[in-house]
Amino acid sequence: MSSDATLAGRTAVITGSNSGIGLGVAHELARAGASVVLNSFTDRDEDHALAEALGREHGASARYIAADMADPDACHALIEKAGRCDILVNNAGIQHVAPIEDFPREKWDAIIAINLSSAFHATAAALPGMKAAGWGRVVNIASAHGLTASPYKAAYIAAKHGLVGLTKTTALEVAGQGITANAICPGYVLTPIVESQIPDQMKTHGMDRETVIKEVMLARQPSGEFATVEQIGGTAVFLCTQAAAQITGTTISVDGGWTAL
Ligand code: NAD
Repeated sequence: MSSDATLAGRTAVITGSNSGIGLGVAHELARAGASVVLNSFTDRDEDHALAEALGREHGASARYIAADMADPDACHALIEKAGRCDILVNNAGIQHVAPIEDFPREKWDAIIAINLSSAFHATAAALPGMKAAGWGRVVNIASAHGLTASPYKAAYIAAKHGLVGLTKTTALEVAGQGITANAICPGYVLTPIVESQIPDQMKTHGMDRETVIKEVMLARQPSGEFATVEQIGGTAVFLCTQAAAQITGTTISVDGGWTAL
C-alpha cells in the first residue's frame, strides 16, 4: 500500500450492488483504487454493462457476478468466482412492511436469508483467503434498524439486529489477524428500497408523498435530510484504511442523529 487512503491491489466484493447503497459503495471503493465485484441475483446485459461503466469511470477493474444471496451455495460460489476477496461488503437486502400477525411467512424467510444469512455464508467463504493474506475487511451494511426498532418491520429489524451480532462475533474470531469486521448503520437513504416503502406508508398514514418523507421517514432523522450513498461508500472506504485498523466489532451510524434521540 503506497498510502493509507489507497485501496490499490485490493479486491472488494459487494453483495446486492446493482443499485442503491451497494452501487454507491462500489463506486467509492473503486474511486479509492480497489478492484470491485458487483453482484445481484439477475444476470442481464445491463448488470454487466453497469460494472463496465463503473470500471471505465474510475479506471478500475470491475466485474459483475450474478448470485442469489438467498441461496447459501450461491454465496460461496460468488466468493469463489471472485477469485480474491480482500474486502467483503455484505449489503444485499430487501424489506417488507406488515404487522407481525399478517407478516407472510415466505417474506420472513426471504428477509432473514438475504439480509442476515447471506452475510454469514459470504463471510465464511471469504475469511480463509483474508486469513491467508493477513489482511481483510468485512463491512456489513446494517441499519439504524439494527440498533432500534419500528413497528411493522419485524423480519427486517430481527435480521439487522442479527447482523450487528454477527459483526461482533466475526470481529472477535479474527482479531489480531489483520482483519476487521464492522457494521455501518445508515438512517434513511433515498434508494429503491426506500422508494418502494413510500406508497405503503402513504396508505397506512393517509398522507401524500412529501408528508410521508418529512413527517414519517425523516421524523426519526434529526438532520431532516436523507443520508447519501456516497456518504455510506465513504464510510466503507474509511473502514478499509490503516486509520481504521483498530476499529472492529462495532457499529458506525450514518443516520443524521437518529440513534442519538
Ligand atoms: P436497493 O433495493 O437499492 O438495493 C438492494 C440490493 O440488493 C439491490 O442491488 C438488489 O438487487 C439486491 N438484492 C436483493 N435481493 C437479492 C438477492 N436475493 N441476491 C442478491 N442481491 C439481492 O436498496 P438499498 O437501500 O440500496 O439497500 C441496500 C442495503 O442497505 C440493504 O441491506 C438495506 O437494508 C440497507 N439499508 C438501507 C437504508 C436506506 O434507507 N436505503 C437504510 C439502512 C440500511
